[in-house]
Amino acid sequence: MRTLLIENALVAGMRSADDLHPSGAVWAEEGIIRALGSEARAAAAAAGARGEPVERVDAEGLWLFPGFVQTHIHLCQTLLRNGPDDLPLLPWLKTHVWPGEAAHDEETLFLSARLGLAELAAGGTTAILDMGTVRHTDAVFRAAEASGLRVTSGNALMDDPSTNPPGLFAETEEALAEGERLFARWHGTAGGRLRFAWCPRFAVSCTDRILRESASRARAQGVLVHTHASENRDEVELVRARSGRANIEHLRDLGIAGPATVLAHVIHTNEEERQLLAADGTAVAHCPSSNLKLASGICPVPDYLARGIRVTLGADGAPCNDRLDPFSEMRHAALLQKVASGPAALTAWQVARMATAEGAAALGLGDVCGTIEVGKRADFVLLDPSAGFARPTSWRDDPYGPLVFAFDRGNVVETRVDGEVVFHRDRRPGRGLAPTASEIEAAAGRLRERIAKNGRREPSPPLEGRA
Ligand SMILES: [Zn+2]
Repeated sequence: MRTLLIENALVAGMRSADDLHPSGAVWAEEGIIRALGSEARAAAAAAGARGEPVERVDAEGLWLFPGFVQTHIHLCQTLLRNGPDDLPLLPWLKTHVWPGEAAHDEETLFLSARLGLAELAAGGTTAILDMGTVRHTDAVFRAAEASGLRVTSGNALMDDPSTNPPGLFAETEEALAEGERLFARWHGTAGGRLRFAWCPRFAVSCTDRILRESASRARAQGVLVHTHASENRDEVELVRARSGRANIEHLRDLGIAGPATVLAHVIHTNEEERQLLAADGTAVAHCPSSNLKLASGICPVPDYLARGIRVTLGADGAPCNDRLDPFSEMRHAALLQKVASGPAALTAWQVARMATAEGAAALGLGDVCGTIEVGKRADFVLLDPSAGFARPTSWRDDPYGPLVFAFDRGNVVETRVDGEVVFHRDRRPGRGLAPTASEIEAAAGRLRERIAKNGRREPSPPLEGRA
């Protein structure tokens, strides 16, 4: 049996703010946490007495947190990092992201996903909800399988020919059939680490039929539905012009609502929409760095939390961030609300919960990860408070402030999923998955060539003109 004892760490269980255990211990068998504290040490001692091999990690001086959960990522965009830095959402999608995604083949998409997953593991992220692109989504799952991370993904549904570029469009039946194929091939594989989600891109890209179908199939299959919603004012206007409804109402009319639904951004909402989000239990993926860079606005997180709406965190894609770093997202989430709503509007503890337990619950993984508890998978990150310059000097038994405001990826020692190391600071990132600089350059070069070639051939959609 594969067993693991982590001992002498400050264990932050994340069930409550005082769920803190100095000199804590975690015992895992076959990747599942079976004991904590003195019982963990006793279990390891008993296994040792039976002559069984035990992997022991002396984590003296380190902090053990549940692995970070990011509920909105685009692995397909990692090779498109550092695009135009000064555009709002719709022109940015049209001129950079969509041509880039349309140019992918299986090989460049695989490399893009490898790079993204290696970066995520290096930042202590153990689980993500990813929105794929229209084609070649098997490449994302193949990379996810090799990475060891817990990944939920699906092909992006973009079936409205009037709003999508020809190279990034799939007719309704073709897109649904591809989703069914991916569900059958990947959902529940790799010991349950990989899962499929229905991913209509956003209301502007989708016909009513595909929105309704993806929601109803998600419900029947017991999988998530994931889309972007109300990120940008022009987008909200477009949806109103197309449907006559507020965006959240429109999605809900078609079945996209409820606890198995994760909506990315959700910044520009009215009172009625907020009431619906709360009543339905729909989860929000807050992406503060992306919202800042695309000048999208400030998500009203404290208001959502006060209403009981579940709010989680994600880095979004590499081109609108340009990092896939949970520390950046935690810091920005906390700082933004201080400016928007006052210094105590959102505490570091609340932000740390959003990045762990709330994220896991939104992904339907509340029984699997997100806290350190007996029965859950051993998905966690070990942090070294002495690494870099962030060593806390007055943290008063409250590690959440240092975690959210001072720490960065330099504090990550190792990241584990199912008890297996997916990143260690002394080894090559991503279990050998991280591409080399020359591989990245070569793939990005191929992508640029294809973007230029396609751009000469295909007209772009009249997206902004429709509002
Ligand atoms: Zn996004």
